[in-house]
Amino acid sequence: MILCVLLTFACSSGGSTTEPAPVAQPPVAGRAAARVLMLTATAAFRHDSIPTARQVMSAMAASGTFSVNATEDLSLINADTLRNYDVVMFALTSGELPFSASQKNALVDFVSSGHGFIGVHSATDTLYEWPDYGRLVGAYFKEHPWTQQGSVVVENPSHPASGGVAERFSLTEEFYTFQDNPRGRVDVLLRLDPASVGATGDYPLAWAHSFGAGRAYYNALGHFPETWRDARFQRQLASAVAWTSGR
Ligand SMILES: [Zn+2]
Repeated sequence: MILCVLLTFACSSGGSTTEPAPVAQPPVAGRAAARVLMLTATAAFRHDSIPTARQVMSAMAASGTFSVNATEDLSLINADTLRNYDVVMFALTSGELPFSASQKNALVDFVSSGHGFIGVHSATDTLYEWPDYGRLVGAYFKEHPWTQQGSVVVENPSHPASGGVAERFSLTEEFYTFQDNPRGRVDVLLRLDPASVGATGDYPLAWAHSFGAGRAYYNALGHFPETWRDARFQRQLASAVAWTSGR
């Protein structure tokens, strides 16, 4: 009881009435910062890079033009909660995440009504049994034949979601292939230079497309924590947030 009284006293005396309360910064002219709901839940393979992914997105948000709520709580994918967001990001998700039919409808309605979706790396190794999700993310993972250094070609450097990354770049990654090639139904932004891994063929690695009135972006990179710390990857993600949110 005495402690309570002391605490109450300390608290009330500590809050001086003469100091003005901090004034909230007025919003920057134009649209408010994009609000990103970042989901890293897994129902199958779980990447070691998940903590780094969350840390990097939070750090980018702190210095950037968006806010992020990183969560593993699937229940946040619902119509009421999504009203508070501009972009849903599936980062390193995997497997058949147990969404209800109404949750699935909420996500499809969210994007198709004019909001954004971003998928990263194993977002294409997610929800194989939900065809609308396949259309949203653009393709399903097939295999990862090359975990090594490879060269990535920037196909569309002028696209807003390319982040100004114009030159081809090399990095060590787990390079994905997909069950079917999304080229033709998406704008391919990045592709693997097959010669750099001793292969031939067409291997898109990042793309953008419209989904109803909304926008969707996918980037297959992100297996390793080092990729998330790569400034070029970060620029692509930041620009993907801006583009998918219509900023
Ligand atoms: Zn991986």
